[in-house]
Amino acid sequence: MTNPTFSLPALPYAPEALEPSIDTATMNIHHGKHHQAYVDKLNEQVGKIPELGDMSLERMMAQISKFPAPVRNNGGGHFNHSMFWTLMAPAGLCGAPSAELTAKITADLGGLDAMKEALNNAAIARFGSGWSWLIMTADKKLAITSTPNQDNPLMDVAETKGTPIIGVDVWEHAYYLKFQNKRADYLKSWWSVANWNAINQRFTAASAGK
Ligand code: MN
Repeated sequence: MTNPTFSLPALPYAPEALEPSIDTATMNIHHGKHHQAYVDKLNEQVGKIPELGDMSLERMMAQISKFPAPVRNNGGGHFNHSMFWTLMAPAGLCGAPSAELTAKITADLGGLDAMKEALNNAAIARFGSGWSWLIMTADKKLAITSTPNQDNPLMDVAETKGTPIIGVDVWEHAYYLKFQNKRADYLKSWWSVANWNAINQRFTAASAGK
């Protein structure tokens, strides 16, 4: 394929940088194989449906029900993973929740620990593969939700819609090599690499209402 429309973004850190929470082998396979496959398969769809090539991923998500399942699966996969890499950072570069975000989480979800627990519980309750989310809804409330497969809360088919602030991948490919079947242990560990600098920025942008 010449000049494919969508491409794999580089990881914003070395593949070993999130050890021990995310082991190097998992990071390499997850980014280099799984995410690359979503990109390649989305580009195959652009070959069949040229209008996808002129569309931002956000616009694609908002009208995903118009398109065949491979667009939903691979377009969602590309959007979700592109965001996911930026939501993690090496120790010392993670920052902390801003005062504004902390206040909003406390008002809407009962505090930071309660938010993390609710997001973890949504992730554990998600049967099979999917994602767990902190979102801002259209009426500017923070909420916890989860989606199956590579769906996300920007999709017109999502049960609960909103702007993603945090999204945690709970497919087994995200954790199985290190944590095997222990999804709860992976989630607990995930918070120690959560990139609050990026999360704060996403919250600020969502609050401004774009
Ligand atoms: Mn994944």
